[in-house]
Amino acid sequence: MTIREMLRRFFLVDLLQGMWVTFRHQNPADLVTEQYPLQRPDISDRFRGQPRLMKGEDGKLLCTACGACALACPEKLIKVGSVRDPETKKKVLTEFDFDLGRCMFCGLCEEACPSDAILLSPDYELALYTREGMELQRPQLEDGIERKVYEK
Ligand code: SF4
Ligand code: SF4
Repeated sequence: MTIREMLRRFFLVDLLQGMWVTFRHQNPADLVTEQYPLQRPDISDRFRGQPRLMKGEDGKLLCTACGACALACPEKLIKVGSVRDPETKKKVLTEFDFDLGRCMFCGLCEEACPSDAILLSPDYELALYTREGMELQRPQLEDGIERKVYEK
């Protein structure tokens, strides 16, 4: 080992050089990490998130209870309940259950729907600590899941 190398080791030159590189990049203006949840990420238009049951301009559900989405779903996680209106002879939606915990967000239900009544929306904050609460019923599908608002 040369004297120069010994002095470098004794005065911890390599360590200090490394620390200088680290501290040179500590300016908050240089941060590249997204500061979630304070900073909301930009979601792609094609992102598939929380399922929603859509309403028309008159405020009525577009779903005609045809059951095509339930048939198209490879996981068979959608349950559509309906009764037949004796006057109009049309099906009327009574319940719509969606097991989010089993959904793989493939979008086949959305594609199969003839009325554009089901949408995989850009809402992405779906994580829970357990599977409880993953079974969504009609009101949650109509109104969406309440999102927490974080203050800076
Ligand atoms: S996105 Fe795919 S897995 Fe999820 S409910 Fe629709 S068809 Fe089923
Ligand atoms: S969401 Fe669409 S495909 Fe599913 S039952 Fe309603 S109308 Fe039919």
